[in-house]
Amino acid sequence: MYLRGTSIINNKGHLEIGGVDTVDLAKEFGTPLIVYDVALMRERARAFKETFEKQNVRAQVAYASKAFSSIAMINLADEEGMSLDVVSGGELYTALAANFPPERIHFHGNNKSIEEMKMGIEAGIGCFVADNFYELEVLQNLAEDSGKTVSVLLRISPGVEAHTHDYIMTGQVDSKFGFDLKSGQVEKAIEITRNSSNLHLLGIHSHIGSQIFETTGFLMAVDTIFEAIERWASELNYVPSVLNLGGGFGIRYIEGDDPLPPEEYVSAIIDKVKSHVERLDIEMPEIWIEPGRSIVGDAGTTLYTIGSNKVIPGVRKYVAVDGGMGDNLRPALYQAKYEAILANRADEPAEETVSIAGKCCESGDMLIWDLPLPKANPGDILAVFCTGAYGYSMANNYNRIPRPAVVFVEDGEAQLVVKRESYDDLIHLDIPYKKKTKVELI
Ligand SMILES: *Cc1c(COP(=O)(O)O)cnc(C)c1O
Repeated sequence: MYLRGTSIINNKGHLEIGGVDTVDLAKEFGTPLIVYDVALMRERARAFKETFEKQNVRAQVAYASKAFSSIAMINLADEEGMSLDVVSGGELYTALAANFPPERIHFHGNNKSIEEMKMGIEAGIGCFVADNFYELEVLQNLAEDSGKTVSVLLRISPGVEAHTHDYIMTGQVDSKFGFDLKSGQVEKAIEITRNSSNLHLLGIHSHIGSQIFETTGFLMAVDTIFEAIERWASELNYVPSVLNLGGGFGIRYIEGDDPLPPEEYVSAIIDKVKSHVERLDIEMPEIWIEPGRSIVGDAGTTLYTIGSNKVIPGVRKYVAVDGGMGDNLRPALYQAKYEAILANRADEPAEETVSIAGKCCESGDMLIWDLPLPKANPGDILAVFCTGAYGYSMANNYNRIPRPAVVFVEDGEAQLVVKRESYDDLIHLDIPYKKKTKVELI
């Protein structure tokens, strides 16, 4: 069994995280419950930041808040001196409600609405990561109207896609994101931005994928970007002062996943950038990165209570829990794999192989196939590991199941940071319908 961060099996045979017994957590806060190991999130944030600091490289480590956005999480990112990525008005609103310093907020998205762009400009955010020509035009107009200057990174699609172990070098990337590098769109965007009275061109952004286990893809992207920078330097007299290389650093969900420690991704990127900078004899750009999953993913554990089961002789045993695709859509959405144990009997050996079913009316609502477990009884607590990224943030109310509560644990203390949704919460946007009578219509 692979235990992450501060997780241990205590002398009661219970899973303990952050010095807190998870069986007590389930009793106090109910299930499903998402438990975050705060020390592990701090450790990750520091590993990324300190690698830049040790090498004296000016940098920003921006937490990609779409992985898990809540006021408490944003407080933590602020405490750890991170910057923050938002991709919507809602994520920006959450960041501002958490009093996150606006100058360290970066606004992403391929179709920011005019209202969202206004909101960002009024809040005085650090920069927009501009995705297309329409956005540049709207940003310029809005900035001009409000008499402000808006900083912009240009998102480019460098023709490198990475996912776990696969890298693809494509001629032109068929992606909805960013300015295409091959066809000259980036040069046009550079010219437009530099010629816009109220836009300030800060640099270039690229994000090549997610759950990446090796440095190769990042280094290919850096090579490609510097090929372009070499051209821009001579033809446009332009050298970006910020190079944002995105996120996508992998984590270990299951045995066999083999990510690198944060330090290794960062060191490899720094070395590669430095070699190009020396070769071209240009000023070292500031390097920004945007880890999401690798900050919060394996720090999250979801606790469920086990209920019914179904044995199909000779085929399979289904064991059902009190949550599922409502609190963790990833298995249904992209066949994501997880490991789990019984939190209240964590010291017992596995006796059988079962499949963990959610409670939604959907055959695809399966959390884990073929999980070795001790014989589980109704009332046992199942702890599913590594649910901290894109779990709560993709949570939904399918079947009108309330979204779970979230607690942070650290140094033996548990703090509720997101309340469990109530049935009243579920209907609070609903308005009753009654057909208007003719009289009322007049
Ligand atoms: C999603 C995303 C990230 C974070 O990706 P992770 O895989 O969670 O690290 C960073 N940057 C951009 C632009 C993204 O879209």
